[in-house]
Amino acid sequence: MDEYFERRKRMVERLKDELKISEKVAKAMLEVPRHLFVPPHMRREAYNDYPLPIGYGQTISAPHMVAIMCDLLDLKEGERVLEVGTGSGYHAAVVSRIVGEEGLVVTVERIPELAETAKKIYESLCYDNIKVVVGDGSVGYEELAPYDKIYVTASAPKIPVKLLAQLKNGGRMVIPVGDFVQHLYVVDKDEYGRVKKRSWGAVRFVPLIGEEGFED
Ligand code: SAM
Repeated sequence: MDEYFERRKRMVERLKDELKISEKVAKAMLEVPRHLFVPPHMRREAYNDYPLPIGYGQTISAPHMVAIMCDLLDLKEGERVLEVGTGSGYHAAVVSRIVGEEGLVVTVERIPELAETAKKIYESLCYDNIKVVVGDGSVGYEELAPYDKIYVTASAPKIPVKLLAQLKNGGRMVIPVGDFVQHLYVVDKDEYGRVKKRSWGAVRFVPLIGEEGFED
């Protein structure tokens, strides 16, 4: 147990009370030391429920948004998941605890320094079911496709067709879409490849920059 365990436990209890998050997401968030994913001078704030700056104009998402997206994805053990936007690496770490050793999280980040920092943290924690890729995740990561689940942690102008193509039939994608007004969409692909989407609600994310995202 680390020195931040009590703070982490209180954060998870609050999320359970206020958002009724699932047991499996709560268990994963209790396990992952979020304070290691924020800049050292911000560690005391790591278990407060708001985004924090991580450098390069980017943020680590608020804990409630990580929990909500994990529950919307309905993650299961053994699944192969693609994350677009590694950022601090925290969200992918939580997902990796849920999909377990038989599962895999592929996370793509366009800023090499952020990807490198996340990779080092995963190594130090022995989280070896996460593959970090540097590149434009708006086009996905074809090499390890198809994916059971895909989620995007930056807001896209529209649902990227290349991401949809890399989603398995029966799979689900969770993605914020929009510029000033953004909505979080849950996109389901049925067993015949037909796509249905619904909005979960309004959100606020940094922009997805890339071929199927916004211009830099
Ligand atoms: N999941 C992150 C976490 O747990 O800290 C939060 C990520 S932050 C809100 C969004 C990230 O998406 C930023 O690090 C940004 O550089 C990245 N990003 C934006 N466009 C991207 C793209 N086309 N491909 C990969 N990463 C991208």
